[in-house]
Amino acid sequence: MVEDERTIAQSVAARLRAEGFTVDLAYDGPSAVAKARAGKPDLVVLDVMLPGFDGLEVCRRIQAERPVSVLMLTARGDETDLLVGLAVGADDYLTKPFSMRELAARVHALLRRVDRAGPSGGHRDETPIVVGDLEINRSERRVRRAGVEAHLTPTEFDLLVHLASRPRAVLPRERLLAEVWGWADASGTRTVDSHVKALRRKLGADLIRTVHGVGYALEARP
Ligand code: CA
Repeated sequence: MVEDERTIAQSVAARLRAEGFTVDLAYDGPSAVAKARAGKPDLVVLDVMLPGFDGLEVCRRIQAERPVSVLMLTARGDETDLLVGLAVGADDYLTKPFSMRELAARVHALLRRVDRAGPSGGHRDETPIVVGDLEINRSERRVRRAGVEAHLTPTEFDLLVHLASRPRAVLPRERLLAEVWGWADASGTRTVDSHVKALRRKLGADLIRTVHGVGYALEARP
């Protein structure tokens, strides 16, 4: 849990501990990166505004070392929009003020997803997915386009697998949110947009087509 406002940090930590999690606290950017390196958490709850360097930089640095789920806390809705636009690699966003109940629900949903995707998870389909020049190896969680490997975050990978499993089909954002993020409500569709943007940046702008007002479809080159 990374947040310099200690009352928020401590109440989040208290709630997550009550849910059975082990929680470590950091109050600035540099110590967050150091603690993530040492403690290897399954998930990081990360505020954007931090002393030292900000949550975006923390997110970049910890994601560069190992894949880890990040739930980012933002001060306002327009800050969320900005971060979605930047596609910083957070798995989910929560705008302040949030209820502890909502925070706990998001944390559980993210960790369920990591469990599913892990080596002991339910999906053990080893068959590579090939769509045009895109090749996805699910057992190794590796992606190549036109022979060039792309490095994706776990959430980006899961989203790509969902889109590539039904090529050319238009998948509504709400459905992607439910299937990839495990959310029942549609309040986080901007999170989907953020990850599509990141996939385009890493794999080519032409890979995923936007169907305005509906969702996305994957269309690889032959
Ligand atoms: Ca803060």
